[in-house]
Amino acid sequence: MDNERKCSLCGEPLSRYGNKTIKDGALCRNCIKPASPWLSDEDYGRMTLEDFRKHLVYREENLKKLETFREDKKVEGKYTLYLDEGNKQFLISKRKDYKKENADVISFDDIDEISIFEENYMDTEDVDICFDMKLKNNEEIDNIYFRVNEFPGLIKDSEQHEETISLAMQYLDAFESEEGIDFEQVEGE
Ligand SMILES: [Zn+2]
Repeated sequence: MDNERKCSLCGEPLSRYGNKTIKDGALCRNCIKPASPWLSDEDYGRMTLEDFRKHLVYREENLKKLETFREDKKVEGKYTLYLDEGNKQFLISKRKDYKKENADVISFDDIDEISIFEENYMDTEDVDICFDMKLKNNEEIDNIYFRVNEFPGLIKDSEQHEETISLAMQYLDAFESEEGIDFEQVEGE
């Protein structure tokens, strides 16, 4: 029976919500807390328990990387982008205290493609502006995807809509203006 299922990692019974299904089992809410926020349900679905253990080790190592992370440049939004130009790496965090969040530190070399596109919000005429970055060479994270506008559903051509597009472009410009980042910009819709 479903309610007797247990977390593959800690062995506690799974709660009704907030679990993640992995390839060879399931993980409870608590066990996924330290994982990267960029993992999608599909990413979990492809992971084995061993992969997840490896991911947690990677997350521990990320904490150490954050100690030497330098904020040389930032673009502030609901998600703030921080660039460490000296060490050629960046992070994107929803929180002001990115160390507390243990935001993933990602190398410039890992960037493959960036696309900014508009998506209809549910069945309405309103839109969301999305940021999607595909990574290569990164063993733990395949892509970084988030909604640029703080609240879902922007009225087209409103001031907020324009501002959000401009913010999305600032993210893009920040990467484009860096030396040594070679990525493809994919135009959406
Ligand atoms: Zn657990």
